[in-house]
Amino acid sequence: MRGLAWSIVVVVSCAALQGSAEEFGRPAAANTTVCTISGTGAADQLDGTSAAEVICGGGGDDAIHGGGGDDVVFGGAGDDRVYGGGGSDRLLGGSGSDLVDGGVGADLIRGGDGGDRVVGRRGADELRGESGGDSVVGGRGLDRLFGGDGHDTLRSRDQAPYDRLDGGVDRNLCVTDAGDRRVRCRRPLDARHRRGVPILMYHVIQAPTASTPLPGLYVAPAEFAAQMRWLAHHHFHGVTLQEAYDYWHGGPLPSHPVVISFDDGFRNQYRKALPILAHHHWPGTLNLALSHFAQPGWGLGPRMIKAMIRNGWELDSHTMTHASLPGLPRDQLSYQVEHSRAVLQKRFDVPVDFFCYPAGAFNSTVIAAVRRAGYQGATSTQPGFARWYDPWTLNRIRMTNSTGPRDLAALLHA
Ligand SMILES: [Zn+2]
Repeated sequence: MRGLAWSIVVVVSCAALQGSAEEFGRPAAANTTVCTISGTGAADQLDGTSAAEVICGGGGDDAIHGGGGDDVVFGGAGDDRVYGGGGSDRLLGGSGSDLVDGGVGADLIRGGDGGDRVVGRRGADELRGESGGDSVVGGRGLDRLFGGDGHDTLRSRDQAPYDRLDGGVDRNLCVTDAGDRRVRCRRPLDARHRRGVPILMYHVIQAPTASTPLPGLYVAPAEFAAQMRWLAHHHFHGVTLQEAYDYWHGGPLPSHPVVISFDDGFRNQYRKALPILAHHHWPGTLNLALSHFAQPGWGLGPRMIKAMIRNGWELDSHTMTHASLPGLPRDQLSYQVEHSRAVLQKRFDVPVDFFCYPAGAFNSTVIAAVRRAGYQGATSTQPGFARWYDPWTLNRIRMTNSTGPRDLAALLHA
């Protein structure tokens, strides 16, 4: 009687696993999932060997240790504790609130349904919280963290940059090192990091002439160079908007930070501003409108933008067509805000995490669209220092050809 019960349990647990086995790269044909170690419907304690095992916990709250070797472990139903141990393991918590711990090695770890705790530890891990409010912890190594549905907490602090975090749907809390890549994330504000940061706003880096229609948007290269020299002389340091944002969330920042932003995407921003900023080893922040991209004669081309990115510049979106956003129908708003971000990310393979309102025009509907598109913040044309409590309408300081040393001192409180 007992033997019969056992075999039924094994068949049920393996059948339930077939969809998952396919995703794990194992044969997809029916009945091909072979569990080398199988649990029962009750709470099991299962231990792998130093070889590669396929361990199936089945129902119940199981405790599973993969041991050495590249193991495949399925927690199954119940609140399981799954440990990969050494080797590059593939772990799936299954339904229930699981603890899935990759251990050493490059692991692929999936929480499955339920609020899971997914831990990578050492090695380049891929961690997926999946549905439910999960806690996803990367550990040392270049990790990729995905929150999935629900309010997830993603942590990638390992004193090293370039972990990649994607919070997924809903508001996600991301605790990262500066230099980690984040999308659909936020980090807690840090009460000790509340200084405002000046963001300078430039447009055309070219001398205005008598016939220039909007002379206020023009700054001659020599004037721009003089303004940068004044900043350097007064101990300012150019930073990106991302660095300012990271500072408000606990990251480091130099004593006199200044963000130097350029709107629209004019070729003279590459020809004239880039070399002057490079001389000071400062990055710029480019707010690119895709309608300006690769325009013959005056628009920034792809190679120019790549050179700017190589020089540490940040690329942000200034919409597809530089349309005024308030009052746009929802689909057009999403085209300008969300689609532009996707296009820039795909074209240049960099995070595009900040938005700039064309002509500084926004309202609550526009802000909601910007938030929905996954940006971390947005710049306006309202004057003043950018403030930590205003991420969706960050102030900027308008720079003109006649902004001299005395103006700079007044504007920057220096
Ligand atoms: Zn503009």
